[in-house]
Amino acid sequence: MKPAPEHAAPVDGAARKAIAPVICYPVETLPKPDLAALRAARAGWEKVSETLVPAREAGAFEVPAGHFFRIVSVEGPQVGDLNLFSADLAERFYSGKTRALHGTHLSTGDRMWSGFPTLRPMATITEDTLDWYGFDAFGGAVHDVIGTRCDPYTHCLLSQGGQYHHCCHSNLTRALADARGLTLVEAEPLVHDVLNVFMCTGFSRDTGQYFMKASPVRPGDFLEFFAEIDLLGVLSACPGGDCSAEHSSDAAACHPLLVEVYRPAAPPAGWVAPAVSGYDRSHGR
Ligand SMILES: [Zn+2]
Repeated sequence: MKPAPEHAAPVDGAARKAIAPVICYPVETLPKPDLAALRAARAGWEKVSETLVPAREAGAFEVPAGHFFRIVSVEGPQVGDLNLFSADLAERFYSGKTRALHGTHLSTGDRMWSGFPTLRPMATITEDTLDWYGFDAFGGAVHDVIGTRCDPYTHCLLSQGGQYHHCCHSNLTRALADARGLTLVEAEPLVHDVLNVFMCTGFSRDTGQYFMKASPVRPGDFLEFFAEIDLLGVLSACPGGDCSAEHSSDAAACHPLLVEVYRPAAPPAGWVAPAVSGYDRSHGR
């Protein structure tokens, strides 16, 4: 809860507050994915791998450019924390810029963007069975890029010394290390803020605090992506389960998550892998 203001509003305070906002990043010039072509490429596709991510653990999976992957709810409501890397680990998902471009929560047609200096789409969301949810009366929605990932450092801070080893940050660190033969010390700095798959979150209207509530996901729901570049995905089945109560503990009921990778019979019509950013990187020198 924020303290009450210490300063009285100026005489024109109400007028200043009444100014209408403008969108920070108008996206009319953002290249749009050809969703119809992407979806048409699913006809006759072949499932080439399945990865079952155990509850309170993470799993890694490879997705070649031009393939699709689905994150599927199985057994019970469960949220997942997704990291995306280029297969060579040179590029990582940039949740902050993705949020600036697409808003607080992602759905069909939105992209997961890489960081600087490449800033290109790593994956495009091609289907979201929870798109019916929209925004609820609390301002909550699913698949956010506003949270970070649960981590043992914040847990230690808030619990005054508590040690918990199955936060998503630690799960992602272990799984990335195993997938690429890295030490935990090498892997940890590569772990980044996530797409919170299936998680239902928002900011409280009165205090602006980050909130979560029970995910509406049910077994059979999925979020589907098209890989724009060669990807290594790492997904953690959050110890918060459906995130209705708490995370960073073993208290919540947790379930596995399934990742399926599909190879289309032919690349989507007109699709070309996205080029890296055209900025010349001279930075004014
Ligand atoms: Zn988590």
